[in-house]
Amino acid sequence: MPEPRSVLVTGGNRGIGRAVAEAFLAAGDKVAVTTRTGEAPEGALGVPCDVRDAASVDAAFTQVEAEHGPVEVLVANAGITRDQLLLRLGEEELVEVLDTNLTGAVRCVRRATKGMVRLRRGRVVLMSSVVGLYGSAGQVGYAASKAGLVGVARSVTRELGGRGITANVVAPGFVETDMTAALDEKTRAGYLAAIPAGRLARPDEVASVCVFLASDAAAYVSGAVVPVDGGLGMGH
Ligand code: NDP
Repeated sequence: MPEPRSVLVTGGNRGIGRAVAEAFLAAGDKVAVTTRTGEAPEGALGVPCDVRDAASVDAAFTQVEAEHGPVEVLVANAGITRDQLLLRLGEEELVEVLDTNLTGAVRCVRRATKGMVRLRRGRVVLMSSVVGLYGSAGQVGYAASKAGLVGVARSVTRELGGRGITANVVAPGFVETDMTAALDEKTRAGYLAAIPAGRLARPDEVASVCVFLASDAAAYVSGAVVPVDGGLGMGH
């Protein structure tokens, strides 16, 4: 059995992040999740953290390091939507979605890679979306935040690829979580018609890809965008 690693999943109290945390727990790792609200899954360490606040991110990592050792696997998953047509998109909504999804992820990656550089190994997995490269009406800010993560993963790969660190992007399509439960029936039916798989994903189907990207089997995969979208975004 490989040594258990210190894994941190942001936004691990519910949805995809929770499934990711459970998958790493099942693989035998020491798992911590950030919980801005809610509870950590059983067996995981919950650490309070708001990714919009650098001091809060730092405190969360410090707590994880004290309990589990330096973070070797970061899954930057925390994210929000603030959907609005561009002409109606408010300044606050725009800033909030970019600050949470993009800048928040960078804050976590910056803090995590400090320890990874010292360890000379590490895995960064960034939770993007099919929307980042495919585009989506009413989601300009969200799409920008998710496309930005590709630049983050590829720059981290160029900066730190020689130190045993990989950084990859997972791009889910539509996944059964609170985020998609908020969609109205018409929008949901439209998406279903466009997805070759003919169904939404289960959170564990995204989680298994994160576990693979963090595994030894993926040691030579870096800067990649891995779609988990039932074929929705093919070629994007
Ligand atoms: P949920 O809305 O179910 O969960 C979002 C998670 O992010 C929650 O744990 C939430 O914490 C956390 N979070 C939000 N803002 C912050 C913050 N400022 N600081 C710390 N944590 C925060 O979303 P999903 O599980 O559906 O989505 C997870 C990720 O996957 C997101 O990045 C999303 O964009 C992406 N994604 C989702 C898809 C889907 O179809 N569901 C498709 C493609 C990508 P809290 O509970 O406290 O709000």
